[in-house]
Amino acid sequence: MQRLGPQILLSATDLVNFHECAHLTTLDLRALDDKALKAQRTQPDEHAQLLFKRGNEFEAAYLADLKREVLRAGGTVVEIEKTPGNPAKSAAATLEVLHAGADLVYQATFLDGDLVGHADFLRKVPRPSALGDYSYEVIDTKLGRHAKASYVLQLAFYGDLLARVQQLDPHAMHVVLGTREQVTFTCSEYSRYFRRLLGRFTQTIANASTEITTRPTPCSKCAQCHWNERCEQQRADDEPTVTFTPRPTPAPTEPTIPTSPAEAALRTRIDALDLAPRAGLTAAHPAVLRTAVRLKHLKSHDLAWPRGTRSGPILEVRNLSDAQQNRALRVLDALLRGAEKLGWSLEPPASDPNADRHQSFARSTYRPPVFGRLIVDGEPLQLRIDERQRQSDHVPTEQEKADEKRGRYVWMPRFDYAPSGELRLHVTEPGHS
Ligand code: SF4
Repeated sequence: MQRLGPQILLSATDLVNFHECAHLTTLDLRALDDKALKAQRTQPDEHAQLLFKRGNEFEAAYLADLKREVLRAGGTVVEIEKTPGNPAKSAAATLEVLHAGADLVYQATFLDGDLVGHADFLRKVPRPSALGDYSYEVIDTKLGRHAKASYVLQLAFYGDLLARVQQLDPHAMHVVLGTREQVTFTCSEYSRYFRRLLGRFTQTIANASTEITTRPTPCSKCAQCHWNERCEQQRADDEPTVTFTPRPTPAPTEPTIPTSPAEAALRTRIDALDLAPRAGLTAAHPAVLRTAVRLKHLKSHDLAWPRGTRSGPILEVRNLSDAQQNRALRVLDALLRGAEKLGWSLEPPASDPNADRHQSFARSTYRPPVFGRLIVDGEPLQLRIDERQRQSDHVPTEQEKADEKRGRYVWMPRFDYAPSGELRLHVTEPGHS
């Protein structure tokens, strides 16, 4: 979303965001004119920057391949120059190239009213349109390994803008996944849904009030959303404060055991620790970085490791929704930093002498993760962090309802579980859950 004088330009990303979270659209819209609100946006972390870089590299590699293929067949390839702040210029250049009949157009720009779109690639197909005896179809590149609804919406957005130029709905739209697999969608199957959504979206923008009337409801988008920190804070602020009235302490029947001087000294040292979680994970404890690599399927060689720390034990994390992953890692980082200051180290468990024997029987190359133990005054403690799941009665899905209507046997679970956003830290003796 960008303001161009009195006009607000809406992109495919804005439509996808609206589809995932109406609150995100409200905040983006308000931030156009509210500098203080804009400053509350979360800056992309190292992981997001890495993904962005990889996305660009993937797109460049695909462009090189496609270019080679088109040029070998005697075709023409045109790259539209980006003109930040002046999309009309790139849109005019795109129009010219489409009328000239280029075989492959890279970075095509469309501008129609308040809608602006930048399609990765347009490929010429022999289907007559207002342009001539040919028309175009959209190809987009995505790093993901599977097609997602957001990809289809984005493609449909570009396809809709392309249709206005060539006066013909494209027959198909394509996405090239990170696996190099090309997935093709038939435009007509999605056009009705897309147009209804676009109508709702533009209507919402036109009728938006100057107040923020939507609420931050956790959803799968939150983990990658630039308002994540603000929404987390708002949810925490909105939580009702619960006060507990302590029961009156019963009169001691036995003399209380006095705190030993060593214990009292330890308590003082713990109280003096700064255990506030840090904002980012860039300089996190190596065990937390290793845990992040496993949890988020990162490539270990893309991260900066202090010497000799790339391998080693990790921490146990379970049932974390995407939205809570970074938060859990930050909590573990604060905990390990504090533990280190007290001289408590994280060690791998003692190795199992029979491990090799089991391995050869299993004939498997899989190595299970090694969960570290915190050694506190010689005693090993197992750490685990998870997210509490909220249980509710199962709501039948549309598919289940349809199958039931058709008289098919449908097994339905009794409960549905949804992440609650509440993290729990478990400290146990090894071998106990
Ligand atoms: S963080 Fe989540 S709730 Fe907040 S705007 Fe983003 S997607 Fe919506």
